[in-house]
Amino acid sequence: MRRCFSKTQKLLLLRRAGYRCQICGIQLTPDNFAADHRIPYSKQGATEVWNGQALCQACNARKSDR
Ligand SMILES: [Zn+2]
Repeated sequence: MRRCFSKTQKLLLLRRAGYRCQICGIQLTPDNFAADHRIPYSKQGATEVWNGQALCQACNARKSDR
């Protein structure tokens, strides 16, 4: 299983999220967008659109700090 989301999957995640970060609601651009696993990859979370969410890079970094 791949760890990274493909370009197509990222586009789907962005569109599904309405181009907003799903934590802080900031508008997402290709520059600050990060595709995140809801169930972490390290916990056997699949790299699939249903297990992905669109975050900004700040929220994604905050999440992985924990
Ligand atoms: Zn955010």
